[in-house]
Amino acid sequence: MNEKCEILIVGAGTAGTYLGWLLAKKGFSVVIIEKDKREEVGKRLDVIHFESDRVEKAGIPPFQVGAPDCIEIRDVSTVVTPDFKKELKIRALQTIVRLTPFLNRMYSVLESDGVKLEFTCKFKSLIIENNQIVGLVAEKGGKSIEYRTELVIDASGKAAVIRTSLPEDYGVETFNLGPNDVMYVLLQYIKWEKPEEPHPTANTDYNWWLLWFGPSYDPEGAILGVGQPGSFDNARLAREDFLKRADLPPYEIIKKEQGSTPYRRPPHSLVADRFLCIGDAAAITYPFSGHGVTATWVLCMIASDVIEENLKNGKDLTRDVLWEINVRYYRNQGAKFASLFTQLSGVLNFNEKEWDYFLKKGLIYQTGEGEDIPEPNKEYEEEMSMGEMLNFLFKILGGLFRRKLSFKHMKSLLQANGLAGKIKKHYENYPENIKEFDDWVKKSQELWTQKKTAVKKLPSVTIEYH
Ligand SMILES: Cc1cc2nc3c(=O)[nH]c(=O)nc-3n(C[C@H](O)[C@H](O)[C@H](O)COP(=O)(O)OP(=O)(O)OC[C@H]3O[C@@H](n4cnc5c(N)ncnc54)[C@H](O)[C@@H]3O)c2cc1C
Repeated sequence: MNEKCEILIVGAGTAGTYLGWLLAKKGFSVVIIEKDKREEVGKRLDVIHFESDRVEKAGIPPFQVGAPDCIEIRDVSTVVTPDFKKELKIRALQTIVRLTPFLNRMYSVLESDGVKLEFTCKFKSLIIENNQIVGLVAEKGGKSIEYRTELVIDASGKAAVIRTSLPEDYGVETFNLGPNDVMYVLLQYIKWEKPEEPHPTANTDYNWWLLWFGPSYDPEGAILGVGQPGSFDNARLAREDFLKRADLPPYEIIKKEQGSTPYRRPPHSLVADRFLCIGDAAAITYPFSGHGVTATWVLCMIASDVIEENLKNGKDLTRDVLWEINVRYYRNQGAKFASLFTQLSGVLNFNEKEWDYFLKKGLIYQTGEGEDIPEPNKEYEEEMSMGEMLNFLFKILGGLFRRKLSFKHMKSLLQANGLAGKIKKHYENYPENIKEFDDWVKKSQELWTQKKTAVKKLPSVTIEYH
């Protein structure tokens, strides 16, 4: 069977669904193929958090609390210091979503805007003619379908089934995600056996262990989550260390989920001839949380504008034509995320006492009480005013003199921050001229090799953050 469309997207997760919708609204013929059944896409995760400000920016049809896909919309979170002595209130704009119902709500919206969705339809191989992608072969119900298209978009998640099968010289890195390139996440849906006894509220972070209690669909329950790189065992052992220290009332584990989320720099180019990668397939996640859903929507908005402008003008969507997507993405959000990812290698070295100090002195989060909790930094800028910088340095010096902070770790932090600044600047200068790309990549690789591995020592496990 042969089919034709202007844009073919592989994967109907949150990334493919959103970009497919944007492009169909602009009048293009869009097909999305998805290997899973319609009502089962996203079933690997139940409850998931979206950044509310990004949901609004993306123009997603509003969530209604109590609808099948929305549990709650909240704006305050609690962070607890590793010694359990202090709780900080921070502003965190979160919409608590049930993933599969959300995707199914969006599928109806997409279909009414003209997207053709093909479920239980699996990508098999690319069709390349004259060194250019011209389509792909998929399989549905034992039959082969050959799609001819102007653009193939890889939105297949961490497997990145297309990106990783591109010819090596096609223009996009073909790496697979290894154990140090992901955060392994373990989730336990729990129910407090004695809900009247004090327990962590359902939006509480214990950053030292990279562990949190998130809201569940059950008001007397919570989701106990933990994420660590390297292996599921690292995550499990970190959770065990936390449980030995935390004084929790009894709870029952109702169900468990596990998975991994990208924790590495994205490919240097997201585009090639008639090709684009987005979402987990492009390793785009918020560096500090590992959340990926709304992180990639920014890229989708840029991509849909560039594709529209060129396809409407009858242009072939070559690497040159799509290049503007790289430039606009990497000079802005891409640069900020690269910088934050680098800074993490300084922060993750802190020992327990240092985390206590940093959190209590307000050096990581802006905290407050009631209405006075400051707005979060929605644009992920980390620039400080001169006054804030002096205040920050003063507190660091105080910590050093009072031996709350070690010189070794503060040196690592300053080095990581220095490198982060250089990396940010480098990405802000992402080349407009494709001929300068090779030199830009060379410099980028030199910078990334300077990023140091951070090490955290917990009583039962030592974890490396690469
Ligand atoms: C435990 C856990 C908790 C998380 N919590 C959050 C959170 O709270 N907030 C947040 O923003 N992010 C969270 N993330 C990350 C988030 O799940 C991902 O970043 C996001 O789902 C990526 O979306 P995607 O569309 O790129 O990929 P996916 O959601 O993986 O979608 C890819 C789709 O492609 C399909 N596919 C794959 N191969 C083929 C093929 N050969 N042919 C056809 N279709 C194919 C898959 O079936 C899948 O439906 C979490 C991750 C984990 C593991």
